[in-house]
Amino acid sequence: MTSVEGCLFCGIVAGTIPATIVRESERTLAFRDINPVASTHVLVITKDHHPSIGALAESDPDAAAELLQQAAAVAADDGVDGGWRLVSNTGPDAGQSVHHVHAHVLGGRPFGWPPG
Ligand code: 5GP
Ligand code: ZN
Repeated sequence: MTSVEGCLFCGIVAGTIPATIVRESERTLAFRDINPVASTHVLVITKDHHPSIGALAESDPDAAAELLQQAAAVAADDGVDGGWRLVSNTGPDAGQSVHHVHAHVLGGRPFGWPPG
């Protein structure tokens, strides 16, 4: 398991930082965002520390695929019948604030396109 000292999401994986966990798989964890922007707002992360979705896909494609499967399972569990959105911010222009890979699963209301 790769873990980074001081990383918030590594702390959630380790259990030292509390979170409302909704799913767990061999290589991923899914928990509710602390500041939800929709009725379903769940973050799916890998248990190993990777800085971004692209870095994850490069270094562990199996875990990247598992993350996508788990995101779809989260949406199904929450019953977001109207559809859902998957977002993985990378870098400052996208507003990435936690540098441990995470995909936002968003659902429960309509979302505009293109994003603002
Ligand atoms: P980003 O801005 O990097 O795309 O997404 C980071 C997300 O992590 C934000 O939506 C933010 O609300 C969420 N977040 C930040 N700190 C915590 C925390 O301690 N617990 C949980 N569950 N979510 C957090
Ligand atoms: Zn981390």
